[in-house]
Amino acid sequence: MTYTVPKLTDYSATGLEKAVAECIRLCIDEASLVSDDAELKSFRDRWIGRKNGILTQINDLWLKGAPKDAKREAGIRVNELKARIQELVEAAHVGSDENAASAAERVDITLPGLRRPIGAEHPVMRTSREMVSVFQKLGYSVADGPVVDTDYYNFEALNFPPNHPARDTQDTLFIAGQQSKPQRERLLLRTHTSPVQIRTMEQMRPPIRIVIPGTVHRNDPPDASHSPMFHQIEGLAVDTNITFGDLKGTLDHAMKEFFGSSVKTSFRPSFFPFTEPSAEMYVSCFICGGSGKRGSDPCRPCKQTGWIEILGCGMVDPNVFEFVKDNGYDPKKVSGFAFGMGADRIALLKYGVDDIQLFFQGDVRFLQQWA
Ligand SMILES: [Zn+2]
Repeated sequence: MTYTVPKLTDYSATGLEKAVAECIRLCIDEASLVSDDAELKSFRDRWIGRKNGILTQINDLWLKGAPKDAKREAGIRVNELKARIQELVEAAHVGSDENAASAAERVDITLPGLRRPIGAEHPVMRTSREMVSVFQKLGYSVADGPVVDTDYYNFEALNFPPNHPARDTQDTLFIAGQQSKPQRERLLLRTHTSPVQIRTMEQMRPPIRIVIPGTVHRNDPPDASHSPMFHQIEGLAVDTNITFGDLKGTLDHAMKEFFGSSVKTSFRPSFFPFTEPSAEMYVSCFICGGSGKRGSDPCRPCKQTGWIEILGCGMVDPNVFEFVKDNGYDPKKVSGFAFGMGADRIALLKYGVDDIQLFFQGDVRFLQQWA
């Protein structure tokens, strides 16, 4: 049976669907009957011929005849149908007989191949991987977790109780329509990689040493130094008798490994809900060598201070261990330190890029510099 385009009277969703399905079914049937090149040509002309092909007829009969309020829907369905028929017609070929394959389809294996251009590692990914490998050499393993997480893992279990003012410092993107759920079960885009600390401690008993690279989101309008999506690298070490000295020694070593052995580190008091005491770590400016000047010009990246803030860190707050106490993290027996840094920010500094947006705009001319 060959297909003739019917006049369409039923323009309801079901009516359109039926007509479309029938058309596709018969096109497939006809395609399967093609047995030589001449038939293939007439099959193609019959369906997609410009002058009076079936697709042209459908366009005329179905679309022009559509009542006003069904025009939009009919237009969408006809466009979908056209795309499908095009695919079917293009894929149609002569029978299954190997000998029938035309000479044009044979492959000349003596011709040079097509060389695909090889991409380059994105500067943020490269920075992240290099930093992660510094910690891997110290025996840390890489941990991972979901980007969409619950309020419990992102805040509560990290010692941000409901209504705690520290929550306001992380402008959070919540998933819509969850008002009926208890707060701790509501889903959000994680604002930091720290939920993976809790998730890992739930799975693994101490001692642990993990490094966590990943994407995080905050409701920050994009500008030269902010992006609603960015990348963090976080670390956690828990064992018996871990001290602030271990934290300083580990991070000082890691920074020398990453930025070069001449950088110095400096720790200044800070506050994070999940660490106590907390600190911000600075490294001596690796651009001006700590002098605050580049020749006679002021050094902008360190704001002429000779120091660049690179990460936040501290000793894990005993309140955090309380949430995973049953898995061996008794705060009276274990201690640990945690740290976190922004991979994008470090990449900006390391490569001297002055606008974070350049990392995410996908401009090949910019990205090619790392090829
Ligand atoms: Zn500097």
